[in-house]
Amino acid sequence: MAELEGFEFGKSDFVLLDEVTMEQFLENLKLRFEKGRIYTFIGEVVVSVNPYRQMDVYGKDAIDAYRGRELYENPPHLYAVADAAYKAMKRRAKDTCIVISGESGAGKTEASKYIMQYIAAITNPSQRAEVESVKNVLLKSNCVLEAFGNAKTNRNDNSSRFGKYMDINFNFNGDPTGGHINNYLLEKSRVVQQQEGERNFHSFYQVRLSSSDDRSCHRAVMGALKVIGFSEEEVSSVYKILSTILHLGNLHFETDGESVQVVGGDSVRHISELTDTEPESVNKALLYRTVATGGGEVIEKGHSEQEASYGRDAFAKALYERLFAWIVGRINSVIEVKNYNPALHGKNTVIGVLDIYGFEIFDNNSFEQFCINYCNEKLQQLFIELILRQEQEEYHREGITWQHIDYFNNQIIVDLVEQPHKGIISILDEACLTAGKVTDTVCLDSMNHKLGQHPHYTSLRLPLVSTWRAVRPSKEMPPHTITDPLYSVEGFLDKNKDPLFQDFKRLMYNSSDPVLKEMWPDGQLSITEVTKRPLTAATLFKNSIIALVDKLACKEPYYVRCIKPNEVKSPMLFDDARCRHQVAYLGLLENVRVRRAGFAYRQPYERFLQRYKMTCEYTWPNHLMSSDREAVEAIVVQHGFEGDVAYGHTKLFVRTPRSLFTLEQERAAL
Ligand code: ATP
Ligand code: MG
Repeated sequence: MAELEGFEFGKSDFVLLDEVTMEQFLENLKLRFEKGRIYTFIGEVVVSVNPYRQMDVYGKDAIDAYRGRELYENPPHLYAVADAAYKAMKRRAKDTCIVISGESGAGKTEASKYIMQYIAAITNPSQRAEVESVKNVLLKSNCVLEAFGNAKTNRNDNSSRFGKYMDINFNFNGDPTGGHINNYLLEKSRVVQQQEGERNFHSFYQVRLSSSDDRSCHRAVMGALKVIGFSEEEVSSVYKILSTILHLGNLHFETDGESVQVVGGDSVRHISELTDTEPESVNKALLYRTVATGGGEVIEKGHSEQEASYGRDAFAKALYERLFAWIVGRINSVIEVKNYNPALHGKNTVIGVLDIYGFEIFDNNSFEQFCINYCNEKLQQLFIELILRQEQEEYHREGITWQHIDYFNNQIIVDLVEQPHKGIISILDEACLTAGKVTDTVCLDSMNHKLGQHPHYTSLRLPLVSTWRAVRPSKEMPPHTITDPLYSVEGFLDKNKDPLFQDFKRLMYNSSDPVLKEMWPDGQLSITEVTKRPLTAATLFKNSIIALVDKLACKEPYYVRCIKPNEVKSPMLFDDARCRHQVAYLGLLENVRVRRAGFAYRQPYERFLQRYKMTCEYTWPNHLMSSDREAVEAIVVQHGFEGDVAYGHTKLFVRTPRSLFTLEQERAAL
């Protein structure tokens, strides 16, 4: 137990700090990091610092130590949280979720993999073949999703460029029966453009097989695709699509003043072969678009050079986005729970694992950062609501006095972004749907006009769209010290509208490759049937995030908050300023305050008694009191921590973990 090690490794729970200040928090975090203790609790929340080196804490011994134990019995670890979520699911038939947050490179994806490995290791002790196969597919899906959804960026060599939420379903035995993956906002712009020093998605290098690393990853992905159940034809179609995108990248356009031509050697021919379409059709889709005139007439209009380049890029991005969505859908079709009869098999319970991009505040923030930060505001809101509201509600239910805590309710910020008619997304959408040339700056003017008075919207100089973030929990608490993000409005409208000429969709729908055709069902529409008001990218994203939050809100949440210790991937360096910044915007100090204001631990009387009755002469082996509650009181009094507890209707509430540590120590000594 961490506490028994003494404090030379720092405090294993931030609740034990002498004072809740940023200085003490950082000092403890740093000391623990330097001593190789990368995990620390805040009550049931685990704070994790990326060690940037292999730690010997994930082996079978560790798994055995955490399996089925209570949170405070072992040092802080991802496994403790995974086990708590699993126990709640199995013992109390609760749906639970584990929300992993933190900035790029903080260790979210690694944490999610350790959590999944832990769950896989502790389930299916009887090794039933069908359960093993489900587990195998769930684990292998990571490898495939990382190949297609991750890329090397300047912040992380294996950065997830999409958000991922995975539900794992369990039967009444607590064994996995299947799952479902939702993906959010794949950064498809990376397909056609990367910042200096960054790469495209890993998958492209596995087609080119340029380095031995790429070759071994390619082998792993091929193996995983096979295990999951992709057929040879499907795998071949996937790689043909990747090659098509690479060939599209080799094309450009030239004009002689009259008409525009494709330049790029044999690329058109290669594309037609790879996509199983006619070369003339490919050529035509690249150079012309079909438009319906006001009179209902359908005509073909030649692109300008610029339009053709734009169309090519939009096509490449869409091909990749649909490929990724198709892969996720294909994995889902394999892992989806089939033939589950609750009457026969009991309630089907779920553990959800969310690994999603954290706040992104760069020098230049665009539409993607706007969406990502909005998503984080929603998740922060959920965190506040669930942790605080649930605490308050439980105290109320148990008849315990709640000491009111002021906190910033960031619903106001969420509303600023998502409110119908008035929010930023609505104004953006309106601009996108207005006929004629509404530019980014015109849209910004309209936003400034409508939202200029909003306390969280600051109108700033062009071409910056202003900001909303300023989470301030209460007057007496120090405000978050992060700078508010500014967004460059440039490109917002285009990314939101995200147009793709219908001609490309039709080209793909007419492919003789059944896999490719399946990805483009909307290609069968003629130009006159195409909806003129498709949902915009921001609205689609908003809808998917609202659905995600609804899904999370009905589950019992567990949190892992990841911190990146430095910018240079060093296992030695703890960069104070960078860590301070993250502790601030993750709201970790507020989190500690909430835990300290209330009671760190609570347990039903009966369970408390079961665990500690041997430490008290009045309760061992059996008690003669009239109720379990009285017996628990006897234990508390014997150990002298009456001042540290409150008695609820059904549970004992313990203010600090110290009292429990004492009991645990005594129990262990017996
Ligand atoms: P992004 O938002 O960019 O996807 P992330 O938070 O998912 O970032 P990871 O990919 O999980 O970050 O971690 C980045 C790198 O840090 C890993 O590739 C690995 O090298 C290292 N790392 C993270 N967690 C651990 C760990 N527990 N043990 C050892 N190394 C780790
Ligand atoms: Mg990641």
